[in-house]
Amino acid sequence: MRAFGDAPREKCGVFGIYGHPESAVFTYLGLYALQHRGQESAGICSRLADGSMRFHRDMGTVAEIFPERELRRLKGDAAVGHVRYSTTGASRLLNAQPIYVEFAKGHLAVAHNGNLVNADQIRKRLEGEGSIFTSTTDSEVMVHLMARSPEKAPEDFIGDALRQTHGSYSLVALTPDCMVAVRDPRGIRPMCLGSRMWTDDDGREHKAWIVSSESCAFGVIDADYEREIEPGEMVVIDDAGLRSVFPFPPHREAFCVFEYVYFARPDSIIRGKMVYDVRKELGRRLAGQLADRGVRGDVVISVPDSSNPAALGLAQASGVPYELGLIRSHYIGRTFIEPKQQIRDFGAKLKYNPVGSTLEGREVVCVDDSIVRGTTARKIVKMIKHAGAAKVHLAVSCPPWRYPCYYGIDVSNYTELIANEVQSDLERIRGYIGCDTLTYLSLDNLLEATGLHRQSFCHACFDGSYRVPPVDFVAEARKQLDFTGLPDFSSIEDDDDGDYGGYTDGGS
Ligand code: SF4
Repeated sequence: MRAFGDAPREKCGVFGIYGHPESAVFTYLGLYALQHRGQESAGICSRLADGSMRFHRDMGTVAEIFPERELRRLKGDAAVGHVRYSTTGASRLLNAQPIYVEFAKGHLAVAHNGNLVNADQIRKRLEGEGSIFTSTTDSEVMVHLMARSPEKAPEDFIGDALRQTHGSYSLVALTPDCMVAVRDPRGIRPMCLGSRMWTDDDGREHKAWIVSSESCAFGVIDADYEREIEPGEMVVIDDAGLRSVFPFPPHREAFCVFEYVYFARPDSIIRGKMVYDVRKELGRRLAGQLADRGVRGDVVISVPDSSNPAALGLAQASGVPYELGLIRSHYIGRTFIEPKQQIRDFGAKLKYNPVGSTLEGREVVCVDDSIVRGTTARKIVKMIKHAGAAKVHLAVSCPPWRYPCYYGIDVSNYTELIANEVQSDLERIRGYIGCDTLTYLSLDNLLEATGLHRQSFCHACFDGSYRVPPVDFVAEARKQLDFTGLPDFSSIEDDDDGDYGGYTDGGS
């Protein structure tokens, strides 16, 4: 994953385990595997043998902030963890998760991936009624709603709170008695369930349950992948085992299609599909679009690492050889995540270096997974040409990113989007980036490449079809849609009709 400048950023990853004496260590390892979903802060909260809870949160990557003594202090038989990317300044540590509170109902730790689109409205109401917030996160709004709920059981007060919210959440909560994992009714952000058998000193077998944003976290702790947590499903795990409830009215599924393009790790399984396989299929379909345009090239390269599978698929489908044309440094620290222009400029050169023998004198098909501002693509094209390429054909494995995301991705301002600023004029984008041809994967090809039903996806960032009205962002959304000449925001209806449209996953 690119860790600076011109890339959409997933805000969080969550992990939880219940029923293993090494829960804190396993959570630490699980967060390691989820590090691509957030590198600015991380945290673990664990339940100790006596039912008390301890936590540690800090700014930095998992490796940086959890010394061994800290993991020993967190030793317990259940734990939840979180990795986060955030943009706020001085309050960043306060925004780190899991959130931990002690309140009238006991102790509670909450780790959240996603974004509520009515959090500001709820927060203003709660502040008007005397509530005091210690962070700027929408996750704390959820915790306030849980605390104010008249319900006593965790599954009831969590469900009661979440029914008042709109937006995306894959959330895991830990109390002294149970762990609760829940996905929003549209299942916008991913979360899956795993398990791990273990044997105690008396030879008795036990099963620990695990939840994670992505299944790539299971391999590192030798856990088995069980299944997706379904949209709108709440899984409650306690000493009696696991039970599943569906506490929300049903909604049409709207899984973030960009997880397949970029956010998720390629070795994760999401909705029954290996992300790597989907990305290769994106590349194959991109090859078809290039052929339709008469673009071929002498060599296919990728912008590493997230574009590698699509480039491989494109090369295999087109018969043009795939080679390494850019080498990525993996040793850039957090300094280069800072969103300052000077550092972004420096960061692009520090992060990628061209391979002259691959590029010199050749017509290069360069595959990238997305273009947000266009600044990094411009630098990369310049770098490839400077290394001697005769031509650069930029092939992007998703459609033009034209609209902000309000569901947990850090692209919430249309002015950041080059495809929006120039109002769909791809020739102007090509001119700015400096490539010889520019080809974006079509939305139809993107959705069909997943092999899943197209109506089960969110793709609002590509076509403005917001499935959950972003009520906190109405003014911005209206400006955005007016700007691009699409219908006024008032024409966007919440799809709270419980209509599943009669579709099932697996056929398009
Ligand atoms: S708007 Fe785009 S990035 Fe955001 S959830 Fe929908 S598909 Fe994903």
